[in-house]
Amino acid sequence: MAEKQDYYEVLGVARNASDSDIKKAFRKQALKHHPDRNADDRAGSEKKFKQLNEAYEVLSDRSKRERYDAFGHAGMEAGGFGGSGQGVDFGDIFGDVFESFFGGAAGARGGRVRPRRGSDLQYQMELDFDEAVFGSKKEIEIPREEPCEACSGSGAVSKESIRQCTHCRGSGSVTVSQGFFSLRSPCTACGGRGKTILDHCKECNGQASVRTVRTLSVTVPAGVDDEARLKLRGEGEPGSNGGPAGDLYVVFSIRPHQSFRRDGDHLQLELPVSFPQLVLGTELNVPTLRGKRKIHVPAGTQSGHEFKIRNEGVDNVHGHGRGDLKIRVIGVTPIRLSEREKELYSQLAELQGDEIEMPEKSFFERVKAAFE
Ligand SMILES: [Zn+2]
Ligand SMILES: [Zn+2]
Repeated sequence: MAEKQDYYEVLGVARNASDSDIKKAFRKQALKHHPDRNADDRAGSEKKFKQLNEAYEVLSDRSKRERYDAFGHAGMEAGGFGGSGQGVDFGDIFGDVFESFFGGAAGARGGRVRPRRGSDLQYQMELDFDEAVFGSKKEIEIPREEPCEACSGSGAVSKESIRQCTHCRGSGSVTVSQGFFSLRSPCTACGGRGKTILDHCKECNGQASVRTVRTLSVTVPAGVDDEARLKLRGEGEPGSNGGPAGDLYVVFSIRPHQSFRRDGDHLQLELPVSFPQLVLGTELNVPTLRGKRKIHVPAGTQSGHEFKIRNEGVDNVHGHGRGDLKIRVIGVTPIRLSEREKELYSQLAELQGDEIEMPEKSFFERVKAAFE
């Protein structure tokens, strides 16, 4: 990579120059090196102009300048800016120049018509638990701007009604000369497009795009979790002036399952069991996502104990294997006992030496009795 010149040197200012010093220096240099004023060395002045642009883009922005001061050019590359030279607002820099010459004529301000990327769109998609776990295909309807079909996105009734702009001869910009220098500004007659339309398309009123509802087929990957986002590149709003379309983000919202809970790729299940089952041990049939599986509950298992069946969870959405199924057994206290059951529980309590003291009457019956 060629050695880059120091931005302060490019603009010819001291490292501690103030914001207004930097702005002044850039204006002076930019006017001097503007390619339109250097016809004899256009390539050279274009290169110089680009350097000025890049230097000004960084030094006129407080956070970029701080980065540059700390890390030099390397800091600019790491941050993803620098080099593009696109961030300078010429309207701002040359605005007062134009105003002094043309009395603030409308249209002198503002940049040329640039390709603009379309906006990103977001779509909230509700999924059943199983659809998220196993993946599915869904059709969704996205309202967005589409190029008008009737006019193929031209905005004109026919090809014949599109004319080259006579004002700028199709270039989209005009060169305004004043005294010793000249500057380029967007053509006001055609809005910088270089074309004018005699008869506008009736379908889109010459807008070249129409508001439509687009049906998209979305493949939901197996294993998506709640709030996960799926990016569909280029399915957002179309760009303008030849810019790329934005992206569509599908955000998933997953309805809960009546038995299973998700814990990332693992699944959790609470399984009610009786105390005799926990005490004596048993084999239990457990529901999984893929049918029933047997687990062995050993004698003397505590309520709340967790068993694990490996690989009975959810497929990882990025293809990194599959989670486990965790089963928590919960001892259920019986509430409606038959006389025989009561008798057996009492005998059991007696055998174990448990103290069972039951009030003769219930609390409410005693309160009631006190008021009678
Ligand atoms: Zn024009
Ligand atoms: Zn149209």
